[in-house]
Amino acid sequence: MRYRNTWVVAVVKGTQQVAANVMQLQIEPETGTEKFTVGSHIDVSVLIDDIPEIRSYSLIGSYEPNAPYTIAVKRLASSRGGSKYMWNLQQGSRIKISQPSNHFELGFGAPEYVLIAGGIGITPILGMAQQLADRPDKKLRMLYLGQSKEEMPFIETLQELLGDRLILHFSDDEGFYDTSKLLDLANAQTQVYLCGPIGLMNAVRKTWEGSAFEPTNLRYETFGASGLFAPQKFTVSLPRFKKEIVVSENQTLLNALEEADIDVMSDCKKGECGLCQVDILAYSGAIDHRDFFFSEAEKGENKKMCACVSRVANGNITIDTAYRGN
Ligand SMILES: Cc1cc2nc3c(=O)[nH]c(=O)nc-3n(C[C@H](O)[C@H](O)[C@H](O)COP(=O)(O)OP(=O)(O)OC[C@H]3O[C@@H](n4cnc5c(N)ncnc54)[C@H](O)[C@@H]3O)c2cc1C
Repeated sequence: MRYRNTWVVAVVKGTQQVAANVMQLQIEPETGTEKFTVGSHIDVSVLIDDIPEIRSYSLIGSYEPNAPYTIAVKRLASSRGGSKYMWNLQQGSRIKISQPSNHFELGFGAPEYVLIAGGIGITPILGMAQQLADRPDKKLRMLYLGQSKEEMPFIETLQELLGDRLILHFSDDEGFYDTSKLLDLANAQTQVYLCGPIGLMNAVRKTWEGSAFEPTNLRYETFGASGLFAPQKFTVSLPRFKKEIVVSENQTLLNALEEADIDVMSDCKKGECGLCQVDILAYSGAIDHRDFFFSEAEKGENKKMCACVSRVANGNITIDTAYRGN
């Protein structure tokens, strides 16, 4: 279930562009920083069209007493505005942030690790690499993928830290990474920690699902709901409610259902818990499944979708909601 945030006022102590579209920010709460473990994130209250919304940002590196939190934000071209708000912050800006929390905890029980970061997914992974790099009892390999060197922050830090244990892959030069190569890096004892864009995460998940390795040894965190298509407007028919609603580019299906007073249970709103799933009765175009709840086979059947993140591209849809109310 969702945890309750405690909000504090924080001051931006510094900003620095660390890659083509990535801004690093140093943030200090007025009440002081709290201890955190690697993989943690903070929530930030951002203003989008003057309306407060929440965006999450992973904490970079490990906790150091009296040092501000460090985050890095990727500027997104197709976006509702959270990253733009973060990019407009300057030294001295005051914002509201939550205490750190961790849904992507690094376990230290395995003898071997493969860390996989795609693009801005490096932010939680960097601290994990730092924690594991010098431990003689752990074998570590790291795969860092991105479009090009210019787009990828912290490459030099990682090269210094890991040497030839770091594998870099630039898709502009080399095309998409062949995830079947991952299986050569792993064995039954290897734990994999993964964070990156949906295409990479789906490919790694599919490779891992098709291997003999334990599903629980692949651990990942999703950053949001980027799909295979840019968000588009679509129409939703709900025969049982005798309603037809329109989901705009800037809305989720879940938001549009709630606005139309149609009850849908939901929790994580990141496509992970599956609580908001709805039945697909008919559709045209393509279902852009943006969740990490359904398996690839279930997504292929197109019988259900997560209303919090998944959308329709180039078409419309007829659905029934799982929650029947009274
Ligand atoms: C635990 C966690 C940690 C994170 N850490 C980082 C981090 O370290 N650095 C970082 O840059 N980001 C991080 N994020 C992502 C961050 O919280 C924001 O989602 C990101 O900055 C984009 O916000 P936005 O408002 O600009 O974009 P959004 O509008 O939220 O867009 C994000 C993606 O969703 C798509 N989208 C847009 N509108 C819709 C819609 N209506 N329905 C569905 N999809 C839509 C867009 O195409 C885009 O690809 C993290 C997220 C989580 C959950």
